[in-house]
Amino acid sequence: MAAERTSALLDWYRANGRDLPWRSTSDPWPILVSEVMSQQTQISRVVPAWTAFMARYPTPGDLAGSDRAELIRLWAGLGYQRRALNLQHAAAVIDQQGWPTSVEGLQKLPGVGPYTAAAVACFAFSVPTAAIDTNLKRILSRWHGEPLEASALARAAESELPPEAAADWSQALMDLGAEVCRPKAPRCGACPVTDWCIDPTVYEPPPRQSRYEGSVRQARAAILKALATNGPTSEPRLVSSTGLDRSTVSAAVNALERESVLVRQDGKLALAPG
Ligand code: SF4
Repeated sequence: MAAERTSALLDWYRANGRDLPWRSTSDPWPILVSEVMSQQTQISRVVPAWTAFMARYPTPGDLAGSDRAELIRLWAGLGYQRRALNLQHAAAVIDQQGWPTSVEGLQKLPGVGPYTAAAVACFAFSVPTAAIDTNLKRILSRWHGEPLEASALARAAESELPPEAAADWSQALMDLGAEVCRPKAPRCGACPVTDWCIDPTVYEPPPRQSRYEGSVRQARAAILKALATNGPTSEPRLVSSTGLDRSTVSAAVNALERESVLVRQDGKLALAPG
């Protein structure tokens, strides 16, 4: 059954897979950038941002040590700017030490978690491993007829993964999850593996995001954008230019200082050098 399902899935992917620009390369840098950008951001917004980013920073060496304000401005439409700063740290490590090629080694790069490490290892270095994200979790749970938690999910993915087509298999599941096996109202009538799926009603809701308006997360993004655009400024001016609550701005500034993203210079706040 698993072999037939895999074959049907891969046939569907070859005919219907999304034509994403980073899928035509095995260079780990554009692949890593695409995976970091795709976390918490829709693919339709990632594609133009990725294209602009790769034109400006075609290699890790181009990003390592580059101007932070420019990076923050370039990242502005994607949100979660912390990802950009981690990517710059990772680029510096790669530039100095070269690429780790194992899942474990990749996971030691700043900002790279288990999913991203597995995706880069599989897509760039042909490591036969499954990149387990919420799509894969939801789909495999539906195939098995029950919600699969961490260890059961890892076992299921390992037993399903075709070693000779691991990258295609993971990318097929990403596309199936985005376009057919959606979290709500899956389009089972258009699904290539409907004959081998036990329960389409199994639904693993994605983790709820905390409220954005008025949050420290919103303040962090607004502060970084203001400093990247206007240069160093004082905390009271940040309060007035962002229009945010004083205590929220203060909490965000303190967190960014602790993380060495911001520094104080002559009584003003500034982006730390990259
Ligand atoms: S049959 Fe329905 S629930 Fe099962 S994998 Fe396909 S779309 Fe998802």
